[in-house]
Amino acid sequence: MDIGVLRRDGRTDPFFDGTAAGRLVIRRCEACERWYAPDAGGCPECGEEDLAWADASGEATLVTWTAVHGRPAEDGTAPPPAHLALVELAEGPWMYARLDGVSGGDLREGLPLRACFEHPDEGESYVLFRPAG
Ligand SMILES: [Zn+2]
Repeated sequence: MDIGVLRRDGRTDPFFDGTAAGRLVIRRCEACERWYAPDAGGCPECGEEDLAWADASGEATLVTWTAVHGRPAEDGTAPPPAHLALVELAEGPWMYARLDGVSGGDLREGLPLRACFEHPDEGESYVLFRPAG
């Protein structure tokens, strides 16, 4: 599935520097040691507005998912559906990401996943999740 070319917007530089290096970097509140998704803007627990960036383990479990059907090619063949998932990182935050190397029948809630990284020719690298093991 073509998700378009990702461009960094300044605010997300540490995240994309991480994905370029094959690391999943998410937000962390140093004040109360809670982890947040990469797009978190602040800590709702203690009110800290300046969250740090820190390496996550890349381990996650599947929460829910949806199959996204792409447009058929010009010759009429349908591409295999892409799977867009909501995953729970081992550190606790939830984030949306594409799944890789799965078919619909493999998927179940709680499936162990591991982060992997796609490095397109154009645009930023991004994270995908594959079944672990
Ligand atoms: Zn906090």
